[in-house]
Amino acid sequence: MARNIERVGDTLSQLGEGPVWDDRTGTLLWVDIIRGHVHLLKPATAEYRRLDLGEMVGVVALRESGHLIAGIRSGIADIDILTGTITRRFTPESHLPDNRFNDGKCDPAGRFWAGTMPISGSGPHGSLYLVGKEGSLHRMVTGVTISNGLAWSLDRKKMYYIDTPTFEVACFDYDDATGSIDRRRTAFKIPRSAGAPDGMTIDAEGMLWVAHWGGWQVTRWDPNTGTIIDQIKLPVSNVTSCTFGGSDLRDLYITSAREGLTAAQLEAQPLAGALFVIRQSDWKGLPATRCSGV
Ligand code: CA
Repeated sequence: MARNIERVGDTLSQLGEGPVWDDRTGTLLWVDIIRGHVHLLKPATAEYRRLDLGEMVGVVALRESGHLIAGIRSGIADIDILTGTITRRFTPESHLPDNRFNDGKCDPAGRFWAGTMPISGSGPHGSLYLVGKEGSLHRMVTGVTISNGLAWSLDRKKMYYIDTPTFEVACFDYDDATGSIDRRRTAFKIPRSAGAPDGMTIDAEGMLWVAHWGGWQVTRWDPNTGTIIDQIKLPVSNVTSCTFGGSDLRDLYITSAREGLTAAQLEAQPLAGALFVIRQSDWKGLPATRCSGV
């Protein structure tokens, strides 16, 4: 079983998050939310660069154009992938200055979803938004505390969603033609002892991978039966998200954070905030969908 954890590169993010593999350029992108950085690394050549957005960035997603769409502190914006220039498009929470955008993703049809949270992490003051094909913004879920991982079933009929303090992966019926969601229910519960559910991805077998904040691990679940299938332990407690990359989509990349750790904890976890990989894992991912027409 290939499950050796390696550190990748030498970055240490304050709040590393949102890994996404660009299969056109062989680049892994991930963000440091607090510092407003977008990291771009080509593992094959170790070529690395960083965009400094000058504003917190919760998520970036690939666009058909080669540029990025992002959820930033102040709203949803287009990002020039070469210069990091921000073009703000939607500011739905300008009346909530203590909120910021957090995790998000492109859905299978190429629409962009991103959710918000209070920066304090407390209070159900966030929402999950959708940028539709017609280019307008829709508020899809309200009463969210920490909007986090998103994934869609391989048949494009279900959307999975994590609002971290619920300690569950929720499931919605999802209409791929329109983006509408309905009939929220619990796909499975995460035991509190496992750490709080954070980012999420789905693999080529339709199994969900969940990163555990405060849980030292990522876990693999069968969402159809609600059973845990596998656990990968990390040398850091705040494991934030994961995705598959590499030319055959078998490298499992995992992000982590220093945020929320005491000086003593940081001393005990010197790799907190690092990017990790399991190269040539036993599992395979799916290519990231690109946002188009949004
Ligand atoms: Ca997150």
